[in-house]
Amino acid sequence: MTDVRRRIPRVDGLLADPRLVDAQDRLGRALVRQVVTDVQDRARRGEITPEQVPDAVVAALPPRACGVRPVVNATGVLLHTNLGRAPLSPAAIDAVVTAAGCVDVEFDLDTGRRARRGRQLLDALLAAVPAAEAAHVVNNNAAALALAATALAAGREIVLSRGEMVEIGDGFRIPDLLTSTGARLREVGTTNRTTLRDYAEALGPRTGFVLKVHPSNFVVTGFTAEVSVRDLAALDAPLVVDIGSGLLSPDPSLPGEPDATTTLADGATLVTASGDKLLGGPQCGLLLGDRAYVERLRRHPLARAMRVDKLTLAALEATLRGPTPPTSRMLHATAEELQARATSMLALLTSLDVDVQPVPSQASTGGGGAPGLVLASTALSLPAAYAEALRANDPAVVGRMHAGRLLLDLRSVPPELDHVLYDAIVRVAGQV
Ligand SMILES: *Cc1c(COP(=O)(O)O)cnc(C)c1O
Repeated sequence: MTDVRRRIPRVDGLLADPRLVDAQDRLGRALVRQVVTDVQDRARRGEITPEQVPDAVVAALPPRACGVRPVVNATGVLLHTNLGRAPLSPAAIDAVVTAAGCVDVEFDLDTGRRARRGRQLLDALLAAVPAAEAAHVVNNNAAALALAATALAAGREIVLSRGEMVEIGDGFRIPDLLTSTGARLREVGTTNRTTLRDYAEALGPRTGFVLKVHPSNFVVTGFTAEVSVRDLAALDAPLVVDIGSGLLSPDPSLPGEPDATTTLADGATLVTASGDKLLGGPQCGLLLGDRAYVERLRRHPLARAMRVDKLTLAALEATLRGPTPPTSRMLHATAEELQARATSMLALLTSLDVDVQPVPSQASTGGGGAPGLVLASTALSLPAAYAEALRANDPAVVGRMHAGRLLLDLRSVPPELDHVLYDAIVRVAGQV
């Protein structure tokens, strides 16, 4: 062994460094040990001196025990599936933290007996959608559809328009999901036009239900026809409507986007929706509607395999009862508000000699909601070299490239993260 190698501090000695004792409490012994041995290797290879090892270990410690890194979503896509869709409200985050311990999720603290799981959330959900007699929550909208298909149409037929055979994303297709449950698809109509008669003629003794799927990620224009929920509800079959985005009541700023209240009032038997799209909550699937049908789904054996955890129940309840979730605030921010935010950041940044300009931008809801809707927005335009450096920052900042510049769209950034965005740009400005 060379002299230099002998001078490299040993593992036990390093782990006793007070800074690393703290880190072990925070990150766990195994993780800190791994960092220590990695840094010792760097010293053995001569990349750093033995004396630099303790500080190098501290510098190399990851900020958290979990590898999932926080991201400021400056893409302009409000619900970015790759970035985890809806960010939770502070109230929902609090609820998740509370629920992380032991909680009365299935226990009545008055009587000391077992209680209905998630009753607090179900109360909140039914209060938010009075048109629903009953509600059930599963892991996501795909699970809600799979449960409905299994419980109501296994070995039977689901009647579905050819214009609503939707691929959700990542190669997953709703028709394949439905047939995987043992239900058969009875396709009716054409890609662009389906009439009430097409549905009526397909109904028969083998019908499990009629399904209407909101085309949430594409638009068909031109010579088109689809049948309204109200007309479909008059047919002699249960009607399940997948509204996609999870709007609970109409939103004037999202014309044409279906909502649970209106869909149920128009006569749907069941509505299915995602919790982490326009509703702005955690990933989950909502089933709302007729009491007897909801109960059939809830009692089906497969329902247990799709049960949501206490963290989801807590986050969804706080989303429904608490302050307006970030997704809704981002959606409804005015052009003036966005410009004002850009202007105040700009004043600070230009004084630091950063090559930054405010530019008009076009944001979108993304994530299966309001397809084709353009949301006027404001972005900070930076040199392209910022893109990689900002992604490497903690928290990472992800924007989008346009005409050789990096655009950081402010509509998809909750205003309370403006200072985080600003700090990241300032830090990165010194590197690019
Ligand atoms: C997004 C979407 C789904 C899938 O929802 P998940 O919650 O991601 O499973 C299904 N149907 C429609 C119409 C959608 O928009």
